[in-house]
Amino acid sequence: YGDAGQKIDYVFKVVLIGDSAVGKSQILARFARNEFSLDSKATIGVEFQTRTLVIQRKSVKAQIWDTAGQERYRAVTSAYYRGAVGALLVYDITKRQTFDHIPRWLEELRAHADKNIVIMLIGNKTDLEDQRAVPTEDAKEFAQKDGLFFLETSAMEATNVEDAFLTVLTEIFNIVN
Ligand code: GDP
Ligand code: MG
Repeated sequence: YGDAGQKIDYVFKVVLIGDSAVGKSQILARFARNEFSLDSKATIGVEFQTRTLVIQRKSVKAQIWDTAGQERYRAVTSAYYRGAVGALLVYDITKRQTFDHIPRWLEELRAHADKNIVIMLIGNKTDLEDQRAVPTEDAKEFAQKDGLFFLETSAMEATNVEDAFLTVLTEIFNIVN
């Protein structure tokens, strides 16, 4: 049962991964609380946040896990990935390096997570279009080759954040039903 006493039909664990400062914590803040902060502190303490939503008349509790500054390569432990049925793999469209690191994150994800995990590649910070360093087409092509969903978001302007989570959660829902 949820916080408001409502019946919960499903709990889906989704993990956020990607380099430091790409906006993972702000994407989560936007989705879970509809908040955004420009001087977001490195996440400490809180391991996950939840939001309950309705998908095809069932109530689904999304339990979204956020890394607490463990973004160094291989510092994210297998406990983080355990039981995850979805993953948002985030890079910053203004920082080419964060996109170049995506294959590493994918490799780590595939090594630790369930093989049927639903993965969405996310290019964040589209509000900074004038500083774009990663063409949309490059990411789209990469995602297509690897069978990932793909969206560009702005946690700041709340663009596509809801869509990204809903796509992943609905896909998971369809797999278990
Ligand atoms: P994390 O290390 O991946 O969790 O990144 P944070 O969520 O802490 O964000 C890092 C910095 O980028 C913070 O200063 C955020 O305010 C900023 N940021 C996050 N999302 C966006 C966005 O969509 N647009 C812009 N302009 N800045 C963002
Ligand atoms: Mg963070």
